[in-house]
Amino acid sequence: MTITPTMPTTSPASVLARQGAIGARALSTGGHDDFNQGQISCRRPGSDHFIIKGALVGFDEAVLGDFVPAVVEAGAPADRLAPPELPLHQAIYSARDDVGAIVHSHSPSALVFGALTDTPLVPLSHEGALLADQVRYFRDTSNTVLGIDTGNAIARDLGDGVAVFLVNHGSVIVGRSVRHAVVFALMLERACSLQLAALASGRGFSQSHAQDVADKRDYIFSDLSVRSYWDYTRRRVARLFPESTEWAQP
Ligand SMILES: [Zn+2]
Repeated sequence: MTITPTMPTTSPASVLARQGAIGARALSTGGHDDFNQGQISCRRPGSDHFIIKGALVGFDEAVLGDFVPAVVEAGAPADRLAPPELPLHQAIYSARDDVGAIVHSHSPSALVFGALTDTPLVPLSHEGALLADQVRYFRDTSNTVLGIDTGNAIARDLGDGVAVFLVNHGSVIVGRSVRHAVVFALMLERACSLQLAALASGRGFSQSHAQDVADKRDYIFSDLSVRSYWDYTRRRVARLFPESTEWAQP
């Protein structure tokens, strides 16, 4: 499928759409598929405009032309293919100037982990070291996010965190760029999966100590490292979804 005529291949929007489409495919490979549900959205820093994966397609099939334009202002006329959970993205972009991309999915391990009571995410793995005290909880409702009031409440509970569990629903992960949000979303699902496996063993398990956690955050999650994970992710997506190599280069 080619991009839409209204989205020139060299426009900033098309560059974001390409990153978004690659991010969507990467999320699929990381266990984030749930039919056509879930979204990835992207904006340029400081902009009131963003693009978001349309409502009809899944992460595993999204292409550049499936991303539709949207604005941060809640209640503004929306594209007919904008997903119903658009207010979730509008609320977070409105609350967080530093956020350049948002992932919302119903990935299974994060969903199950978020439903556990009195079990915080701990630094069991590298990913856990990054996310241990960065994932918040939203418990007001487990329903689909259909209104800006719910979106604002989620943004409130996310605070300055990296992610928030939507309890009995899914999770939301943010980043200052598409690569950050996608890499962190992949890491959250893996961190939850690994800790669930440890919990299921019924045995005790060790955790990284505080100095290791600090060192890991400095090195493993530096911008340079995140870029290398993203570059790997792009190559992996190209191998698994050869059609993505035909998408316009940024
Ligand atoms: Zn949802």
